[in-house]
Amino acid sequence: MKANLVLKNASVYTVNSNQSWAEAIAITDDKIIFVGTDAEVGAYIDSNTAVMDLNGKMVLPAFVDSHMHPALSAHLYQYQLSLFNMTGKDQIQAYLNAIHKFVETHPNAQWIIGGGYLRSAFDEIGPRKEWLDEIISDRPIAITSKDGHSMWVNSKALELAQITKNTPQPNEGVIKKDPKTGEPSGLLQEPGAMNLVGHLIPPPPKEEIKKSLLWLQEWLNTKGITTTHEAMLGIEDRHIYEAYDELAQAGKLTLRYRASWTISPEGDARTQIEQGKALVKQFTHPHFKAHSFKFFADHVIEEETGYLLEPYAHRDDDWRGIKVWDDRILQKAFAQIDAAGYQIHVHVIGDAAAKYTVDALEKLVDLNRNRDARHSFAHLQLARPEDIQRMGKLGLSVHASPYWMNLDDYFWKLNLPYLGHERAFNQQYPFNSLFNAGVNVTVASDFWVTEPDPVKAIYNGMTRQISQKEFDSDYGSESNYRRVSDPNAKLENGDLGVLPPLDERANLEKMILASTLNGAYANFLDEAIGSIEVGKLADLVVLEDNLFDIDIEQIPETQVVMTLFEGKLVYSAKE
Ligand SMILES: [Zn+2]
Repeated sequence: MKANLVLKNASVYTVNSNQSWAEAIAITDDKIIFVGTDAEVGAYIDSNTAVMDLNGKMVLPAFVDSHMHPALSAHLYQYQLSLFNMTGKDQIQAYLNAIHKFVETHPNAQWIIGGGYLRSAFDEIGPRKEWLDEIISDRPIAITSKDGHSMWVNSKALELAQITKNTPQPNEGVIKKDPKTGEPSGLLQEPGAMNLVGHLIPPPPKEEIKKSLLWLQEWLNTKGITTTHEAMLGIEDRHIYEAYDELAQAGKLTLRYRASWTISPEGDARTQIEQGKALVKQFTHPHFKAHSFKFFADHVIEEETGYLLEPYAHRDDDWRGIKVWDDRILQKAFAQIDAAGYQIHVHVIGDAAAKYTVDALEKLVDLNRNRDARHSFAHLQLARPEDIQRMGKLGLSVHASPYWMNLDDYFWKLNLPYLGHERAFNQQYPFNSLFNAGVNVTVASDFWVTEPDPVKAIYNGMTRQISQKEFDSDYGSESNYRRVSDPNAKLENGDLGVLPPLDERANLEKMILASTLNGAYANFLDEAIGSIEVGKLADLVVLEDNLFDIDIEQIPETQVVMTLFEGKLVYSAKE
């Protein structure tokens, strides 16, 4: 058999434990037909074979980003007001200037919508409606935070949603109030409060979603990503799932999607799951399938909505955050999904959220003992060691975000005061212990929360600090910050350092595994992709340097040279 394409003279790290390294790969159509030495690959070459001499560059299986929000994020980046990547001395003023400019340049937009502000730029009450009212008072504004867990609105939006001083607090959320007047201050936290405004915003046209997804896949291909998981597909969001499916059917995707249907505690879970099960069967294209169900066990620390075993440290009540689900209802919902043969995907941040969700998943084992279920958690900021052991025993995947495992500005301004010293310094983001417990650890950007960049995630997971380059671009001009790369140095408040515990750093082999084969496994794709083996699809990424040979500080700088999706070149740095 002759190959269409041969890659040779390369450092091929296969993520196949039977043959870790190779020099050459032969590809016919969409599949790998040979992995081995330069000498042997000659047998697959004839006059029709394109041969690429890679001059020692590294080849890896293409990256899997196992939890992100592609449709919402791409639409925000392409069509909405973006407050991402704004840093400066007066961050609030920078946000207000950008909002002002967007409002002026979009005179016909009925709603001003957007996202990306950092919660750490504001005090505990958060951004205020009055600042937006000064910019525009006759059209509603709704801007979602960078972490997606709060929304900044003006008075017009509050008025349309009929939110007043007297509106009772919703179950799964908080309407922040001005401590002096008791009036809504302009910040809505979590879905229970955000949806009061959110459900009034007209959904974007399907064509806009499709255009933004095409833009996004091109960008992700430049980062070496060819598979991702859409982690929050609304059962009602026809315009979104149809956009994915229509692109897949038209053969336009250069990114493979798996997806999770969101189950909300606001409606009847049983009915939603039945609707989701019907939708699962509608989508069968190999580039877009959705056989997983998404739950939020809790929310996030920075909005005081992550669910903790011990109270938040900065408050004088015994507030422990939001427990989204009643145990019995959650248990029933899990059982319904598991019995139907589908996956469960749970957002888990706090240690109490981890505990009650593991409790519920453990009960499934008795119901359905030997099923290959591959249920998963996303994020996991805090978890007791005994619960991590239980996750390993259950064979769970954890979609971790090494991007967040840093001792940064967010740590000093939010994590440390909210969690207190012990939890902030010694318990955040267990990572290496997940691998050691036998958990299937994957890498997730949670985009738009973090912009995907797998080599950066590899670096963060290995070091638990931000790179010098990231420091220079985000903090460098501000004299009050220092980057301290010595993990044993004594830190002063505000220093950007290494997030303890140090033994939670993972090595390069584990980081590559988590970024490739483990992500494939979590999505039932490990027989098709995730390693470089004969018979698998040729989803490959070529990196400028062999990550095993370079200085660790160079890892996040490593350039993607090309990306192949099912044997087709979908990105080349040369072009
Ligand atoms: Zn997410």
